[in-house]
Amino acid sequence: MFIATFMLSIFAGCVSKNKSNNMVSVDIIIEHARVLTMDPSHSEFKNASVVIKQGRIVEIGPSDSIALKYIASRTIDATDKLVMPGLINTHTHVPMNLFRGYSDDKPLHEWLYKYMFPLEAKYVNAQDVKLGAQLAIIEMLKGGTTIFNDMYYYEGEVAQAAKEIGMRAIVCEGLISFPVPNAKDYKEGLAYSEKLINKWKGDSIITVGVSVHSPYTCSSELIKEAWALAHKYNVPFNIHLAETKWEVDSIEKTFKCTPVEYLNKLGVLSSNVIAAHCVHLTKEDIAIMHEKNAGVAHNPECNMKICSGVAPIPEMLKQGVKVGLGTDGAASNNNLDMFQAMYTAALLQKLTTNDPTVMNAQEVVDMATINGAKVLGMDKLIGSLEKGKSADIIIIDLKRPEIYPIYNNIYSSIVYSMNSSAVNTVIINGKIVMDNRKVLNIDEDKVLEKVQLVADSIAKDKSLSK
Ligand SMILES: [Zn+2]
Repeated sequence: MFIATFMLSIFAGCVSKNKSNNMVSVDIIIEHARVLTMDPSHSEFKNASVVIKQGRIVEIGPSDSIALKYIASRTIDATDKLVMPGLINTHTHVPMNLFRGYSDDKPLHEWLYKYMFPLEAKYVNAQDVKLGAQLAIIEMLKGGTTIFNDMYYYEGEVAQAAKEIGMRAIVCEGLISFPVPNAKDYKEGLAYSEKLINKWKGDSIITVGVSVHSPYTCSSELIKEAWALAHKYNVPFNIHLAETKWEVDSIEKTFKCTPVEYLNKLGVLSSNVIAAHCVHLTKEDIAIMHEKNAGVAHNPECNMKICSGVAPIPEMLKQGVKVGLGTDGAASNNNLDMFQAMYTAALLQKLTTNDPTVMNAQEVVDMATINGAKVLGMDKLIGSLEKGKSADIIIIDLKRPEIYPIYNNIYSSIVYSMNSSAVNTVIINGKIVMDNRKVLNIDEDKVLEKVQLVADSIAKDKSLSK
């Protein structure tokens, strides 16, 4: 018995030595997972491993063979877990997390002009923008979002917050035709944008784009100059577009065309455009968006809450328009939860088209992952789990009562059954940023405490509309 054990241990030692000599060192292996890749074939694997090195996905394959080939600094056992690409929030205003719940149940125009613009004029500053962004990023990581596309003021602070926490972000200074907290006119805003673009050029997780608020709050000169800046640096260009009937009527009255036609006439519709909302598009508008390869950020919950209307998403998808999913800001949603956004996006279209077959679960997950990446112009880097792509990955607990049982259609589980609290671990650019639901690079409790102090002072301010 003694001899047998000894012989066995020598044999095991040899195997281990031979193994380690031939094995490739990597950073992370996620093993024994159910893997949903969202690659062009929508490949799925069971008992599979995802291998990560220097921020990139090196290989996806059966756990048994991966274990013989690689040795990792960190191995994550993903038994009973789903591994999929991180969710992509194509439209938000993260500092507005500070204003969550400040003013609800109002029409957009009144909400903006009576409540939000005066509040922002008084309370938006660099410090609080960073705080609001930190709160939002914590919320998003806990909901499985690995990139957000942002439009607000002091976006340099948003970039800084994202970088420190390890969140991927597109940050865009919001340009508008009136003075804002950090710019007395749009020229200053443009200069700020250009400086920011140059500051973060080449960063591994931060991209700086250009944003104009909307056709009704920005002059045509501003829109054209901002687009030219985005074109010069080949970066994303954001705009709220055709969000309400009021906007459509107002553009029609002034320019005798639809908001989409108006942008087309200005020459600013192109493949780097991310148009948020697009609720009120005509058939011709949809054809123009497709022809120009412009992207749409669909925000179903915000559109419902402010009663802007229902964007014709099935028609856009049919015509081949790029459509991603977004939450909009927390002041008008009131959360940045992409699982809720997926659920709502699916149900809203079914109800309004009276057709339960539209916006099936897979199409919705496409919008929240790979199609979102296409809208952001980043599909070569993110949006699916494929060899060579960035390791922007979420690991989701499947063994939960609200998810079980699981049949063959995992998309149904994701869209109709899961909620964000099932997200267990988040990896961005190959780095673990949330581990077993703990956000690693920031003190969550401290952020919540500071945020409540700001909210308390706003609540006491008698000069603001209540
Ligand atoms: Zn918005």
